[in-house]
Amino acid sequence: MTLYSPSVTERHVMPEPSSRAFHPASTPDFLPAPQMRELQLSRLRAVVRRAYARVPLFRERMDALRIRPEDVRELRDIERLPFTVKTDLRDTYPFGLFASPMDDIVRLHASSGTTGKPIVVAYTREDLDVWTSVMVRAMAACGLHSGDIIQNAYGYGLFTGGLGAHYGAESLGATVIPVSGGNTDRQVAVMKDFRVTAMCCTPTYFVHLLERAAELGVSVRDLPLRIGIFGAEPWTESIRRHIEREGGIQAFDIYGLSEIIGPGVAIECPFHRGLHIFEDHFYPEVIDPDTGRPMPEGEEGELVLTTLSKQAMPLIRYRTRDITSLYPASCPCGRTLRPMARIARRSDDMFIVRGVNVFPSQIESAILAVEGALPHYQIILTRHKGLDSLEVQVEITPEVFSDKIGALETLHDRLTRGIEQTLGLRVEVTLAAPRSIQRSEGKAKRVIDRRNEVSHEDPSTVPLPGK
Ligand SMILES: [Zn+2]
Repeated sequence: MTLYSPSVTERHVMPEPSSRAFHPASTPDFLPAPQMRELQLSRLRAVVRRAYARVPLFRERMDALRIRPEDVRELRDIERLPFTVKTDLRDTYPFGLFASPMDDIVRLHASSGTTGKPIVVAYTREDLDVWTSVMVRAMAACGLHSGDIIQNAYGYGLFTGGLGAHYGAESLGATVIPVSGGNTDRQVAVMKDFRVTAMCCTPTYFVHLLERAAELGVSVRDLPLRIGIFGAEPWTESIRRHIEREGGIQAFDIYGLSEIIGPGVAIECPFHRGLHIFEDHFYPEVIDPDTGRPMPEGEEGELVLTTLSKQAMPLIRYRTRDITSLYPASCPCGRTLRPMARIARRSDDMFIVRGVNVFPSQIESAILAVEGALPHYQIILTRHKGLDSLEVQVEITPEVFSDKIGALETLHDRLTRGIEQTLGLRVEVTLAAPRSIQRSEGKAKRVIDRRNEVSHEDPSTVPLPGK
């Protein structure tokens, strides 16, 4: 596979290969800011022209705002362009946002979503090369190189995770094991027998892998595994500490989404000061989700991304629903790519209980702050006589479980207090036996919302005794 080839502007500067993490594909990571802005502007103008000329939805929206592609004269003009949202992809299902003829499109991916129609995304040959190049840059930033053996436990198929990581790892020159998701016992055997040095999967699945390995008598800490690249769901610093401690590895957060390209939009470097965005291909903005106005640097809001080089399906100002903030680039790794704060919340994940906004990540942090609790939990929402209740089931370690009743009561009280203080809400905590909460082989499903189910206590639904 040919790598995405740098443009003339990008070739101006060759950074010193100061760290082992340097890979020739990483050159744009170190582009001085003025050159990066120049490159972004020329690509932004090109992508807006392309979208306007080829995608009716963009043309109609821009016409409605009386903006023409030639009105984009500087980067700030992006703020005048209309947003794109997820429902636009559903409403134009399957091919309505494509900007390339099918002759030029070489791959389709799709995401099922939880409700309604799936969304479909398309790639030209050039798009796939860009995707591979950003994945190479992501893996190189984590310190992976051609000597690594990478176990890719992201699902292969319509989901972008599997193939995205696969082509990146292969192009890096590393050895890829395309094990895909599931079959946990085999995953543990592969990790051990093939002397795997890096793992790609969701953080939730890695927590499960660690636990299963221990049950099988395999100590992951004693294996050659040294790096994990985890993504496809929001996760907290508490989970990172758990993974690093239990697995004896360094855990990196990778960010991406199918609508934009798949994995490879942003990555942590070994300094873990946020995620460097590959902003030569993905232009980031952070907006106030209510007003749509840009947030000042460093302040939290919704991440909006524009694909600067995408051919088959360019997206202008796509609202990701992910909550983050942008910072100026000043990382000791030397990358000039602007970092964003890691995403621990998605506005889609938020639920409201008795008027209070709650994110699962807040509950997770409160649980993991208490010793004796495990990162396996479930949030159950119910409604009784119009009043919402929030129950949190938390799995406990076998040690605490076999302990005296007194220890269980203390743990129960500490968890209840910790979660109630974090949320400012009354919650009911239930301690669950070890291994009693179902494990996920992909993204975790933390919240079960039963509030709209018909209550069995409702007399009108109680079946009459049979005659
Ligand atoms: Zn860095």
